[in-house]
Amino acid sequence: MKRLVILGGGESGVGTAVLGKKQGYDVFVSDAGEISAVKKEILTQHEIEFEEAKHSNEQIFSADIVMKSPGIPDSVQLVKELKAKNIPVISEIEFASRYTNATIIGITGSNGKTTTTALTHYILKNEVNAVMAGNIGDSFAMSVAIESPDYYVLELSSFQLDGIKAFKPHIAVITNITPDHLDRYNNNFEEYIAAKFRITMNQDENDFLIYDGDDPVITDWISSHTIKAKQLPFSLTKTIEEGAYVTNNTININLKNKSFVMPTINLGLQGNHNVKNAMAASTVAKLLDIRKQTIRESMEHFQGVEHRLETVLKINHVQYINDSKATNVNATFYALDSMLSDTVWIVGGVDKGNDYDELLPLVREKVKAIVCLGVDNTKLMNAFSPCVDLMIETQSMSEAVKIAYKIAERGDNVLLSPACASFDLYENYEDRGNQFKQAVRSL
Ligand code: ADP
Repeated sequence: MKRLVILGGGESGVGTAVLGKKQGYDVFVSDAGEISAVKKEILTQHEIEFEEAKHSNEQIFSADIVMKSPGIPDSVQLVKELKAKNIPVISEIEFASRYTNATIIGITGSNGKTTTTALTHYILKNEVNAVMAGNIGDSFAMSVAIESPDYYVLELSSFQLDGIKAFKPHIAVITNITPDHLDRYNNNFEEYIAAKFRITMNQDENDFLIYDGDDPVITDWISSHTIKAKQLPFSLTKTIEEGAYVTNNTININLKNKSFVMPTINLGLQGNHNVKNAMAASTVAKLLDIRKQTIRESMEHFQGVEHRLETVLKINHVQYINDSKATNVNATFYALDSMLSDTVWIVGGVDKGNDYDELLPLVREKVKAIVCLGVDNTKLMNAFSPCVDLMIETQSMSEAVKIAYKIAERGDNVLLSPACASFDLYENYEDRGNQFKQAVRSL
């Protein structure tokens, strides 16, 4: 019996453990921290051995194969030692892909992964047996252990792609690439770009790579590397012979012998970034021969994912919008870009080395007041005080919302789009978004 050792007892670790057990491995889970009660119960139910708060060498180095959870960097000593001993260290995505024959659609990028994955699944599920997994919903491995769909729509982070070897999506999507998580890539943007492009490294001529043809980081990389998959770019700014583009406020998809058009005004989601996400999702759907009517209706009805430009309430003709998932500058750029009237903007949190310059023109045009919400607001105050008259600081969400309520006038928006991580004042971005919604509802 082969021994599978799993480092990390979180979502992907436990999913891999259950799948490994089902596939006849001798499975052992090791977590240097605590494993949650729910996860421990699943492991116990499946009679899977585990340890927590330590990594025992004798248990781990007897492995034939090791699955490393995406949260553990390659640079930790244990991983280095495993590699030195030639014990294969793979990711959950690699392991799970060995046990499914489903057609795989893999979606990665710096922003828009969840939205594009959810929208693609929302369209496909009307006509085919498709399951959405990965960074969204069940882990891929858990899903492979418990169900056998014909199609997987997988949201994939760069960390998940780092440990793949033979994993190959039939259709890969790269939504965009902007600097993020660089601490995990030796502060080297090139390494992070290469990690994202691993999604296409095993693809061949019969596969497809859909990507943002307006993103210079992506197009530069493609022009200097060999890509075997058929390339299908999408663009907001130019016509595309094979791929997707927008003219006269209408999405056009052109594939060999297939086409699709839809006015952008009919999309359920607003904002230019969502037009891009819609182009990516509908290109996938056309490739898989989903009917035009189904694609149109799905894209009309799709209301988005919580905490992503989520409309919360209208109070006194002021719209309150929760974009707590905007944890970097690029996401906030598109949030401000999609504001159609004057905006009171709540921003701040843990700055990940942000450069705010690209936001300045939008802030001048759209923002009437800024509420800085973070433990340290100095950088924000310095960056934006030259271009807005009113900037106020606080460390309390309910106060931030009350301040915004006092400033906003009929027809304005109040937007929470932090451009920063949430860990200074909140558990995570969901907690921050929920506190915002709670504060709005208590006004
Ligand atoms: P991810 O899963 O990659 O983090 P999400 O769909 O969760 O992406 O969106 C994260 C943030 O980025 C949200 O604030 C959302 O409004 C914004 N966003 C969504 N799609 C895009 C896009 N294509 N380009 C830039 N920002 C986007």
